Amino acid sequence: MSRPSVAIASLGGTISMTPSAAAGGVVPKLDAAQLVAAVPGLGELADISAEPIFQLPSASLGPEQLLACLAWAEGKVAGGARGVVLTQGTDTIEETAFFLDLYWRHPEPLIITGAMRTPLAAGADGPANLLAAVQVAMDDQSRGRGVLVVMNDTIHRARWVCKSDSLSVQTFVSPDGGPAGRVVEGQPEYFHPPVDRPLASPPTRRFPKVAVVPALLGDDGDLAVAALDLGYEAIVVAAFGAGHVSFGFAAHVERLSKVVPVVIASRTGAGATASRTYGFSGSEVDLARRGALLSKWLHPLKARLLLGALLAAGTPREQIPDAFAKWGTLPRHSPIQQQPVP
Ligand code: GLU
Repeated sequence: MSRPSVAIASLGGTISMTPSAAAGGVVPKLDAAQLVAAVPGLGELADISAEPIFQLPSASLGPEQLLACLAWAEGKVAGGARGVVLTQGTDTIEETAFFLDLYWRHPEPLIITGAMRTPLAAGADGPANLLAAVQVAMDDQSRGRGVLVVMNDTIHRARWVCKSDSLSVQTFVSPDGGPAGRVVEGQPEYFHPPVDRPLASPPTRRFPKVAVVPALLGDDGDLAVAALDLGYEAIVVAAFGAGHVSFGFAAHVERLSKVVPVVIASRTGAGATASRTYGFSGSEVDLARRGALLSKWLHPLKARLLLGALLAAGTPREQIPDAFAKWGTLPRHSPIQQQPVP
């Protein structure tokens, strides 16, 4: 029986970083083929192709690079790959995974992995993460789940995954939806069947600048106003609690909403924005009345990418609320008819 083919591309990140005396620390150096060579037995598991696409710290990835990765991955599945794996820096995985998931229209799994420890560190996690990523990419159970992040033998959906710790190997969490599954003895095991995912239309123009402005104690969000002068085309407010800002910030939200889309997301890192609980000036009810959109379950970083994608696809302003809501709200499930045990 022929082995499944899995295509791996490297983008840089800690998984690829080795020391440089000149730089004063580690820098991206190893490419996909070298990462594959560090995983014993990977070549026996699947027919692996390995290509370097970028050699970057993940802080310097952006829409342009990610759209190039998307085109690369689409080419690989069109050529018969059962799944594709991207290795990159973990700093921005929660954003890159969501960005790619907005556009990934294929049943084949697109897996992102990386490492928290450099390849030369004791207990380097890169090889184990790459092995697990390939095991997930080649398994039929992974089909139809969009973009998945595999780190530390845990599988996360792009929709929920967040980096929760600056240096710990156990950094990725999915605070609201929970992890999709685990890799157990080399095999992915999923907690739930795949769910329908909304998809964004492909960009028809350059990705716009979308600002994330936090609500902060004693601050009226003047930065949100300045953002407009800097050419930002939409604003996400990383609001207090369930979607709250100060009186002064609320007045800015009203003025700004007349000009650009303004989305209110929670800065807490978990939970949804409310919609009908608080009525004070600057509350979620008040901000919605002033013209802002409430992001519901979408956290600020992901709301920013979605707004950017909607604008990049040329979505008319009046259609943005409905388009945005497809990601912010959770699908309602039809009740399961329980079959009696005979
Ligand atoms: N901790 C990051 C990593 O795991 C630093 C570098 C980056 O994100 O590229 O890769």
